[in-house]
Amino acid sequence: MQKRKRILVTGGAGFLGSHLCERLLKEGHEVIALDNYFTGNKQNIIHLQGHPYFEMIRHDVTVPTFTEVDEIYNLACPASPVHYQYNAIKTVKTSVMGAINMLGLAKRIRAKILQASTSEVYGDPQVHPQDESYWGYVNPIGPRSCYDEGKRVAETLFINYHRQNKVRIKIARIFNTYGPRMDANDGRVVSNFIVQALKGEPITIYGDGSQTRSFCYVDDMIDGLIRLMNTDDQVTGPVNLGNPGEFTILELAEKVIALTGTKSMIIHQPLPADDPLQRRPDISKAQSLLSWQPTVQLEKGLEHTINYFKEILQ
Ligand code: NAD
Ligand code: UDP
Repeated sequence: MQKRKRILVTGGAGFLGSHLCERLLKEGHEVIALDNYFTGNKQNIIHLQGHPYFEMIRHDVTVPTFTEVDEIYNLACPASPVHYQYNAIKTVKTSVMGAINMLGLAKRIRAKILQASTSEVYGDPQVHPQDESYWGYVNPIGPRSCYDEGKRVAETLFINYHRQNKVRIKIARIFNTYGPRMDANDGRVVSNFIVQALKGEPITIYGDGSQTRSFCYVDDMIDGLIRLMNTDDQVTGPVNLGNPGEFTILELAEKVIALTGTKSMIIHQPLPADDPLQRRPDISKAQSLLSWQPTVQLEKGLEHTINYFKEILQ
């Protein structure tokens, strides 16, 4: 076994954070999950409570904190457009002040730190597929800007703590990821469609459904994040992590309908402002630097996720 590390996961009670904590514990590490439970849920980590190497801290990343760790995964931030727009100012604070506080901690204790950045830094991309050299096309005053610009500033902070203070950083640009433990009321497309299908409610497609996304299953994403953290110090990223399979939202709805066997009808609702038209990661960098690529096909991942929601909606 590799050396046991002490690892802090901010946003540890969230969707990705809880899977990450679980995987790191399985690898034999000591894990401290930090969360303010804004969009996260104790239910996501309840099965880890009582594990001798797991600890949970209720804390808001906009406030400084101190704890001695070897590595920090900074995931704290609402990720669903519905939730990050609910309190836009708080979202900016979480991204920016959260990054400052966690980078300050990393600097002080000489920990390695990974930022959960996002494909949203590319905005409504005019380049397709998106590789890391693309600077993006973001509306700085639109409804998504609290998240997009917050995450862009966080990247700026990370790279400058690295340049000025030699902090060992990793930036992961995460593309749409789905799987068990997404919140049923999260508002993101995969959970919305599955919950609607299982309840026999109309499936809400925003716009005509021709906009595309690339959906990565959670296990693949967690594997990519851990591989990125474990790279040599000169690898800072940004590195795209996502599944290059690209689907229209209409195709996703049709797959969910077929896999659940629901009688739900598709209905169309207005497309939200600044909703990106297309999104697909170029993952060449992740393939060469991390020897990583997703392995779970969309149908398989949807099946696992549908089974999860069947259980929790009972
Ligand atoms: P999530 O909403 O399930 O998890 C976010 C977690 O952060 C929650 O547990 C929430 O309570 C916590 N949190 C929010 N604000 C906080 C604060 N101020 N202090 C402490 N904790 C706070 O979302 P997720 O999908 O698990 O996303 C995790 C990270 O990955 C986020 O930073 C998100 O931006 C990034 N990301 C996710 C995706 C995706 O598709 N899932 C895509 C791109 C980027
Ligand atoms: N979407 C949809 N119906 C829903 C939820 C989302 O058609 O009930 C669309 C949304 O407009 C976007 C895509 O699905 O085009 C992905 O949305 P999501 O909120 O999951 O993430 P985004 O990639 O936009 O951040």
